[in-house]
Amino acid sequence: MLKLSKTSKLDGILSWSLQALDTCPGSIGDNGELVAACSGCYATTGNYRFSNVKAPRLENQEDWKSSDWDERMINALESQLYFRWFDSGDMYSIGLAEKILSVMEQTPWVKHWLPIRMRKFAKFQAVLDKMQSLPNVMVRFSSDSVMGEYTSEHGSVIVPDPLQAKGFLCKAYEHEGRCNGCRACYSKDVPLVSYPAHGKKMSKVIKILSIKGA
Ligand code: SF4
Repeated sequence: MLKLSKTSKLDGILSWSLQALDTCPGSIGDNGELVAACSGCYATTGNYRFSNVKAPRLENQEDWKSSDWDERMINALESQLYFRWFDSGDMYSIGLAEKILSVMEQTPWVKHWLPIRMRKFAKFQAVLDKMQSLPNVMVRFSSDSVMGEYTSEHGSVIVPDPLQAKGFLCKAYEHEGRCNGCRACYSKDVPLVSYPAHGKKMSKVIKILSIKGA
């Protein structure tokens, strides 16, 4: 059964998610350790640690393999204008990526926001390029940095402070963590979004990096 989440943070916009880190091969850096952005990941803290939050994500990890999954997703998006993929987790499998592409192609009335790290892996590039070529899809390749470093390929980056924002500054921090009507992440007109770091775990990561002078 499809498990979609609906959070006040996203103004009630639906999301389909998997378990963080377990489905995030892009979270591991060249040195074999978690990259900075994933070390402070919000989806490994707070409510995300509760079994009732983990269970639907684990169920989704099996459910997408069903032959009728894409059809059920398309039906679930029938009355939606926006959709966020992966509030937690990542598009870890090519099979899943091809199914998500099919859902995107068959729901042109929905603006899809797909945050990913899978562009690091060559085998995902063709399917990601097809997604990004669709007028209703914004694929955002997340930078590993929490210090505002990014390349022209990246669509989002974490910055230690709003004053260090590059591109579009996410102002959810001014609205108790809510989008509050903003839809920048879903828009192709916004190539780069800066998310100010938030949460104790992320603050600790930034503090350590700052001490090291990274
Ligand atoms: S940039 Fe806008 S749409 Fe994206 S997370 Fe921030 S408030 Fe939400």
